[in-house]
Amino acid sequence: MQAEHRYPEEKFIPVKPWRPCPICGKGDWCGFNSFIASCMRVREGSFKEVVLSNGQVAYLHWLEPGMVNLPALMKDDSITAAQTAPVEVRDRVYRDFLRLLYLQPRHREDLLRRGLTEWEIRRNGYRSVPETEAPWSVCRRLIRMGHDLAGIPGFYKARGPRGGTYWTFDRQPGYFIPVRDEKGRIQALQRRMDDARGGKYKLFSGHKSRGGCSCGTPAHVTRPAKVEDRRIWITEGPLKADIACKYLGAVVVGALSAATWRPAIPAILALEAKEVIIAFDRDVESNPEVARAYLTLKVELKKHGLAVSRAVWSDKKGIDDALAAGMEVRVVRA
Ligand SMILES: [Zn+2]
Repeated sequence: MQAEHRYPEEKFIPVKPWRPCPICGKGDWCGFNSFIASCMRVREGSFKEVVLSNGQVAYLHWLEPGMVNLPALMKDDSITAAQTAPVEVRDRVYRDFLRLLYLQPRHREDLLRRGLTEWEIRRNGYRSVPETEAPWSVCRRLIRMGHDLAGIPGFYKARGPRGGTYWTFDRQPGYFIPVRDEKGRIQALQRRMDDARGGKYKLFSGHKSRGGCSCGTPAHVTRPAKVEDRRIWITEGPLKADIACKYLGAVVVGALSAATWRPAIPAILALEAKEVIIAFDRDVESNPEVARAYLTLKVELKKHGLAVSRAVWSDKKGIDDALAAGMEVRVVRA
């Protein structure tokens, strides 16, 4: 009853997709201040109903002290870089994001050609960057599902034609490859680009000056349907790891590149591995940079008390190609 009198100086602000209603989680129609939410959808738990001038009923809910930080939310109208969200949150958003997308036939063909089956393609969750629906529309659907895109790498804000901002993401054609942690959570997305001129693989990340954030260089952990080899394999590239995993029947860790192996270490330790096999591309023998990465990785693994071996095969470049071609892969002590 005293609600309106207790804090008369604080105005209600309308909810927005980037600051949704604290009661129903939607980004339109409702409003709130630091103490009260005026929700148009949820009656349960409200302390008062107010009939608005247009005849609609708003349900007033008390908010927990500190639940809403109004000055911070107001500031969110401007575009600032976001703090990267915890992996649980990223996983939830990316799962729903990928569910809203499809895999284009040409991308499915590419994955089949590389040795994956239809079932594995579905299980691993590859999806094409949307080609018909606009990115802002996909973002709006995610926000309506209750997700906050701030802190989710790959998403960033664009300025609207009439002021204000909206969430969006890059739409260059290609397909998404989920980068999972040791618990199977999607921590980041990598893209296989159709136009490889700027690099075949690109992370879904960045645009810090436009409200986006970075995903860092996480290592991908992929598990076979059935583990037949208890050793952990390390290769370069999440997709390569997915393909190798299927042939090896082992958990494979895919570093984003030979040089960015460091995030693979905590993943391997969390997996409680005893033996690790390094299966970097064959240019480890000719490329000094890859050779150096291989050596430092080997030393680091041994420091943690792990037995380290190296995979060798003939002529093809990556272990995924070698395995898919039915080539013999030998394991030698490193
Ligand atoms: Zn509401």
